[in-house]
Amino acid sequence: MQQAEVTLAERKRQMEQRIADACERAGRERDEVCMIAVTKYSSLQATIDIFELGVGDLGESRWQEAKVKWESLGQRPRWHFIGHLQTNKVKDVIGKFDLIHSLDRLSLADELQRKAEQLDLFVDCLVQVNISGEESKYGLDPQEIVDFFETLSTYSRINVRGLMTMAPYEAPEAEVRRIFRELRRLRDALNVNRAPDKRLYELSMGMSDDFEIAIEEGATMVRLGSALMAD
Ligand SMILES: *Cc1c(COP(=O)(O)O)cnc(C)c1O
Repeated sequence: MQQAEVTLAERKRQMEQRIADACERAGRERDEVCMIAVTKYSSLQATIDIFELGVGDLGESRWQEAKVKWESLGQRPRWHFIGHLQTNKVKDVIGKFDLIHSLDRLSLADELQRKAEQLDLFVDCLVQVNISGEESKYGLDPQEIVDFFETLSTYSRINVRGLMTMAPYEAPEAEVRRIFRELRRLRDALNVNRAPDKRLYELSMGMSDDFEIAIEEGATMVRLGSALMAD
């Protein structure tokens, strides 16, 4: 137990250092980048440990696995739903997760709007974009984005905060960089005609293998699973 805790603390320190170094290289402030600990592979104890080490943002991709952790830690962390969200699971996560990173279709927006109205709350979301074009990835085709945002603007209960993407696993660095750069370009293009209070700020991009590239390309949130939690 003691041993594992030392290791987790050490890994956290290393990740913090790498994030700080990437920010420095990119001429960015450290506080422009939020480190999300992705605890989907982790035990309840490891999740509590990383939270107590001061990582206040936790990411999960399935409610079944998040449940025990959510019930233990409650609303003290900021909870990020990062996985594909099935429409019939909206009822489980709404009101519990502070940010849903995977809004990728209108049927999901419909259900979020409906449940949010029932519960009288607002839902913060990121729109997931499939820039790499991989068949296996969820997310909108970049070509669909403008129309999707136009329609979304009529959903009074959904606040879109930005965009999310995933780069292909083990792609060459140049390809990963191109994908992250494209997400940023999309965000900036969408902001041109948006009211200041509707500005998209967040870019959730970068995981254990590519978070430094993502930070150099403008990520505001990196989602770290294996490299940070490793258990
Ligand atoms: C699992 C997962 C992560 C974390 O992946 P690692 O490579 O272990 O850091 C990040 N984002 C999403 C969407 C995930 O599903």
